[in-house]
Amino acid sequence: MTDWCEALLGDAKATLALPPPCHPANARRMRYQSTRGQAPLLGFRDVTLAGLASDGGLYVPEAWPQFTPDQIAAMADLSYVETAVRVMQPFVGDALTEAELRELCTQAYGRFSHAAVTPLVQLDHRHWLLELFHGPTLAFKDVALQLLGLLFEKFLTGTTTHLTIVGATSGDTGSAAIDAVAGRHGIDIFMLHPKGRVSDVQRRQMTTVLAPNVHNIAIEGSFDDAQALVKAMFNDPDFAGRFTLSAVNSINWARLMAQIVYYFYAAVRLGAPQVAPVFAVPTGNFGDVFAGYAAARMGLPIRRLIVATNVNDILHRAIASGDYSAGDVTPTAAPSMDIQVSSNFERLLFDAGARDGAALAEQMRGFEASKAMRLTNAQQQGAARWFASDRIDAAEMAQAMRWAADSDLILDPHTAIGLAAARRADLGAPMVTLATAHPAKFRDAVERATGTRPRMPNRIGDLFDREERYDVLPATFEAVSAHIAERATPRG
Ligand SMILES: *Cc1c(COP(=O)(O)O)cnc(C)c1O
Repeated sequence: MTDWCEALLGDAKATLALPPPCHPANARRMRYQSTRGQAPLLGFRDVTLAGLASDGGLYVPEAWPQFTPDQIAAMADLSYVETAVRVMQPFVGDALTEAELRELCTQAYGRFSHAAVTPLVQLDHRHWLLELFHGPTLAFKDVALQLLGLLFEKFLTGTTTHLTIVGATSGDTGSAAIDAVAGRHGIDIFMLHPKGRVSDVQRRQMTTVLAPNVHNIAIEGSFDDAQALVKAMFNDPDFAGRFTLSAVNSINWARLMAQIVYYFYAAVRLGAPQVAPVFAVPTGNFGDVFAGYAAARMGLPIRRLIVATNVNDILHRAIASGDYSAGDVTPTAAPSMDIQVSSNFERLLFDAGARDGAALAEQMRGFEASKAMRLTNAQQQGAARWFASDRIDAAEMAQAMRWAADSDLILDPHTAIGLAAARRADLGAPMVTLATAHPAKFRDAVERATGTRPRMPNRIGDLFDREERYDVLPATFEAVSAHIAERATPRG
């Protein structure tokens, strides 16, 4: 058995009487614990369907599966799908057989337009792009959500549970989630977007999906208004009691798990385990870069993870100086990073801070009250061991776009922020910037910065000729909750 079996059982023994250690069947029982220490431990199926933990925390695996250098070297011959099966199997445990997991991965990644799924593109002797935007909706969110849609369907099959997904989006999550669950049995999705404040491509990718289980709502308000409405519905006992609510934002563990795969896939292609690359990650909610941290904790040699932010730089300040304090959001050309509170950062604070759920719950309560906190020394040192960070302004972003354009590569604004941070850091190792969106998704911003209007990829097809369908609602709890209640399927 692999080392992670020992690690897992080492932890588990303290809390649970298990039969003799390291029998494969026991090791397969991967369990998840909440960052706030009060919610029940869950297996993979339940953690996937639940999203947020009942104590307000986020679920993380009880222990990180471990991969040896030999096991990593052996991945050099594997396709993306086979890499995904290897990397995710220990997290899935006995919730799916290996054959079932392979079948789901084959389906999910069969919809990507590149045979490598997430290809590496070389920029110069030092820099690479890891292109994560070859999925159906042109942003990296597809990598996780295509799989999550299939996992939902798989876990609901044969039950009477009907999931009601309610979410708010500034564009990319909504389009990827809708594509992933459209037409799937036992699921309805209600997606709120701020009316007139998402790009035309993003809106059409949501509103032209006419499957009867897809419900688009344009809110007369901002993204923050939309998100506050979603929170209010989850927290309203009457509303939440009537439906089986589920979340598709990156608080869902299964999403992060699917993103760990491409760190392995890319690093192995650059020579891991002998080579330890740097990854520069355009960061908003800290989901994507936390997946990189998970890969590092699983034994993948990673020299450093660079958290690249735009001028909304709370994460840069937190990592550079331990100051985690939220201000007002400044709208930028990279809207998926226009964020002040990064929900997944709590997962790092937990793992880096000795996994003390009670202490973290206290710390987070303080933050929720004052919108500011200091990292503890342990948290700061834990973060400093793996992360660097940088803040990229509009001029630096545009400069990175023009540098890449010299090699005939058009970057989207988010990717350009990652590349700018990678170029400034240059840590003497292969530097991989995560290319999180196709430039066509943000073509106005790209044109403003470079003078070149990106071409629509063929797989967008007739997006601009298709019929749109959505409802426009005022940003009030009464209007939105009544609208959803009328259309959703109540608990059995
Ligand atoms: C969501 C998104 C990000 C930020 O990812 P996080 O996981 O929230 O840090 C960056 N770029 C693009 C294009 C995105 O859609």
